[in-house]
Amino acid sequence: MSDTQRYCRKCLLQDQAEDARGDLNRYLDAIHPEDKADEVLYFKRLEVCRQCELLGGDATCAACGCYVEFRAILARGKCPKSYWK
Ligand code: SF4
Repeated sequence: MSDTQRYCRKCLLQDQAEDARGDLNRYLDAIHPEDKADEVLYFKRLEVCRQCELLGGDATCAACGCYVEFRAILARGKCPKSYWK
């Protein structure tokens, strides 16, 4: 990320610079397919996170400290505030 690039408060890793997206994709690829939420559920969860007051500018959740994309991809993942399941 360059010093002049700025991101909105609601950015997820997928919205950020190539290196952040690369880390995200490597992590997601390493999860066994059976442990992943399906794509529709994953993106539905992330839309809830985008609207949440607890989403930080570093793409982490202020309630649990996790990167929300890493939490939302897990089939058994849960929002710490029960905003999504
Ligand atoms: S995981 Fe839940 S509490 Fe955290 S940012 Fe997403 S919706 Fe908000």
